[in-house]
Amino acid sequence: MNKEIIRDLSYGVYVVGWRDNGYNGGCIVNSAMQITSNPMTIAISVNTENYTHDCIKRSSKFSLSILNEESDEKLIGTFGYQSSKDVDKYANFEYELVEDVPVILDSNGYLICEVIATLEAGSHTIFVGKVVQAKRLAEKAVMTYRYYQEVLKGKSPKNAPTYIDIEGEIKTNQWVCSICGYVYEGEELPDDFICPLCMATKEAFIKVEK
Ligand code: FE
Repeated sequence: MNKEIIRDLSYGVYVVGWRDNGYNGGCIVNSAMQITSNPMTIAISVNTENYTHDCIKRSSKFSLSILNEESDEKLIGTFGYQSSKDVDKYANFEYELVEDVPVILDSNGYLICEVIATLEAGSHTIFVGKVVQAKRLAEKAVMTYRYYQEVLKGKSPKNAPTYIDIEGEIKTNQWVCSICGYVYEGEELPDDFICPLCMATKEAFIKVEK
């Protein structure tokens, strides 16, 4: 069996939002799909260990904000690598409450769903939601999981310092974030460097010499 072929299934990058006891939270998911069109339903898959999981189970409602390639990459860092238990993930982003759940405005748009079924699937729960509200906010290229992996995760500053060795080959040193895999190219990592994807500090970076 060659499980690697499963990577050819395409996925997006979405922010799932919820509101529970007056508190706004959410996380990044990459698995979301339309199930039916009339009534319109979708399914999302959420890790059972994620704080978002229990909150959606309690509130029975969620939003799905569909990120585009121009959405602030800090959204992924904040919503993907931090926990709503510890931080208010919406503090630094524009959002709105729609049908009493938060949506991200720096996106192509959103769907608001009421949970009509759940399926326990081992490490994840599949929530099936009936779409009760939907709005388009932009028409930019949708962020796919592949784009995130290949462009954002591997992105490093354009002005990364490089040097040319005696053979004329360009050589760079890389600093790889041990939490999210973000690569910073350069000889030295500034002391106050914060990973733009997962907000980790300099200590989380491992130097890789090429
Ligand atoms: Fe990181």
